[in-house]
Amino acid sequence: MTQYPHLFAPLDLGFTTLKNRVLMGSMHTGLEERGDWNRVAEYYAERARGGVALMVTGGIAPNNEGGVFPGAAGLYTPEDIANHRMVTDRVHAAGGKIAMQILHAGRYAYGPECVSASPIKSPISPFPPKELDEDGIEKQIADFATAATRAREAGYDGVEVMGSEGYFINQFIAKHVNKRTDRWGGSYENRIRLPIEIVKRVRDAVGPDFIIIYRLSMIDLVPDGSTFDEVVQLARAIEDAGATIINTGIGWHEARVPTIATSVPRAGFAWVTRKLMGKVSVPIITSNRINTPEVAEELLAGGAADLVSMARPFLADAHFVAKAEAGKSAEIAPCIACNQACLDHTFSGKLTSCLVNPRACAETELMIEPATHAKTIAVVGAGPAGLSAAITAAQRGHKVTLFDRADRVGGQLHMAATIPGKEEFTGLIDWFTRQVETNGIETRLGAAATAGDVANFDEVIIATGVAPRDPQIDGQDADNVLSYIDVLLHKKPVGDRVAIIGAGGIGFDVAEYLTHDGPSPTLDIALWQKEWGVADTEEHRAGLAPEGPQPEPPARHVTLLQRKSKALGKGLGKTTGWIHRASLKMKEVTMQGGVNYERIGPEGLHVTSGETRDDPRVIAADTIVLCAGQVSDRSLADALEAQGRVPHVIGGADVAAELDAKRAIDQGTRLAARL
Ligand code: NAP
Ligand code: SF4
Repeated sequence: MTQYPHLFAPLDLGFTTLKNRVLMGSMHTGLEERGDWNRVAEYYAERARGGVALMVTGGIAPNNEGGVFPGAAGLYTPEDIANHRMVTDRVHAAGGKIAMQILHAGRYAYGPECVSASPIKSPISPFPPKELDEDGIEKQIADFATAATRAREAGYDGVEVMGSEGYFINQFIAKHVNKRTDRWGGSYENRIRLPIEIVKRVRDAVGPDFIIIYRLSMIDLVPDGSTFDEVVQLARAIEDAGATIINTGIGWHEARVPTIATSVPRAGFAWVTRKLMGKVSVPIITSNRINTPEVAEELLAGGAADLVSMARPFLADAHFVAKAEAGKSAEIAPCIACNQACLDHTFSGKLTSCLVNPRACAETELMIEPATHAKTIAVVGAGPAGLSAAITAAQRGHKVTLFDRADRVGGQLHMAATIPGKEEFTGLIDWFTRQVETNGIETRLGAAATAGDVANFDEVIIATGVAPRDPQIDGQDADNVLSYIDVLLHKKPVGDRVAIIGAGGIGFDVAEYLTHDGPSPTLDIALWQKEWGVADTEEHRAGLAPEGPQPEPPARHVTLLQRKSKALGKGLGKTTGWIHRASLKMKEVTMQGGVNYERIGPEGLHVTSGETRDDPRVIAADTIVLCAGQVSDRSLADALEAQGRVPHVIGGADVAAELDAKRAIDQGTRLAARL
């Protein structure tokens, strides 16, 4: 008997049956564009082997003008069809099902050929779209139908018509972009003509026994988006047009409300899907920030949806579903919703992977195979780099001993987990802790390892991490000066007025931590909605509260500083930096760049501006927190090298600059894979 009866209930679609209620949502990985179709096929097959009922591919363009960028993957030639056939064959052989997403980017396309309902440039692409005429619209509809026919020919079990997230179809539906006065614009009936026509024509093209998922924007989160009644009207029309399943879309990409970042509460938008339940008779999928079988089961049991879509959790663990089915939920590597190796990569033109699982999208490249000779391996440092190395080495059959001076594993992850909005890091620490236990790794915690401790091991891995950089500011040894470790780990008292020296990832985190008081909005959906101005679509069009964001007042007055003169937070994550900046702005954090730190006194921080050191002033502060970056802790590595040993040095101990858990885990895993 499964722990998750609703999650593992099959779903009969009439002409085919899904073996459970889990859909792997569409993710653009960049694999298709690389042309290594064996790698694409293995990426999907691995997830099919992991038990998910139905997967949706990354967006495949119906035509050149609809591609997200010039050269984006499409399904145009017999060769394309043969390539996709490799994917579908391998997924079917693994017992899975797969639907191809047809994604037309409209004005989000990053290319001069882009088209839309009206010639209004989007804030996220520099290219103004051409307004389509009647023939142009007919061509787009026909191209959707042709793409679906080819998808069927390539062996797919269905298609997903991407109608949400502000892409092409959504641009016709909402007045936010559609300013037309012909039969494709004006009234709501006219504006939803396009999605209805597309679904009808796709159904006519593929026949009755083929899955058509329509991804419907249920809360646009942009001005002039749809109301709840309009969403219901569209959903019914889409059902009548021939869709098999309706999937939930949340927010346009240009919305100024986070929708999938780690600070969004778990299942924080499931209420949006729930409102549509009972209004149509086709199954409905809910989505966004669902990352454990427990959350998924609760949603299904509570009637929020008929299926759940999870996307990034399948990067973190391809075997999510199989592990849940086997009652091994604690073994599932958790997606922490950081975006660091998935969306941030996609939006930087890099191949997608996963911070937690470097094998994601590297299934044919990064092999974790049994070692030919079992060795004894000492790993010093139980942060992300050391943990990953230790776990991977142990999985390969090596005998691993893990040392750390702290009395628990996790290293710097413990600091991240204290930040409001970063609670998911706790799950990652729990998972690492469990992996250490289940892989039989011996731990020696609570004392710093010496060269003598690691003398008799075949291999030594040094993952001793980093130490705070000493910024050498006059007066920094006074009692009113703390390090980020004092604040986040040792919980030393902090005054009402704070100056933070350094505005990197940690400076931003400390500012977030010090301006919050009381419960974290990430753990309280109502509070989070208030903070970001999200409203019920039944009361306010597009789900935007008319009063806008209403954050809790800041707990302290914080000034965040850096010496560089450029805007603060430029180096933060590509897809999440704006959230951190917006969040601190809401907490009235003062940001100052281009400063020189002259000295610290009891009254606060003395600074000047620019190379000429003018505008001397005092930033009045009760507490000054040093977040001035980090330097490698190589003391043990140096001691071993002085003895003629050659340790493997990874993570922050190797290179401190721009260290993050992504690089640490990747480096640790890759090293252990080849030892
Ligand atoms: P960081 O990102 O390198 O930032 C260091 C900050 O200290 C910068 O603002 C820098 O700005 C300042 N600084 C450098 N040398 C200084 C000096 N001698 N005196 C005074 N200020 C100095 O490092 P971090 O904030 O310690 O973060 C460490 C790593 O953790 C980062 O690489 C980051 O990616 C990662 N992290 C990421 C996140 C995330 O949200 N993804 C969160 C936390 C940490 P100026 O040189 O302009 O003064
Ligand atoms: Fe999840 Fe982060 Fe991995 Fe992306 S990189 S799948 S957000 S854990």
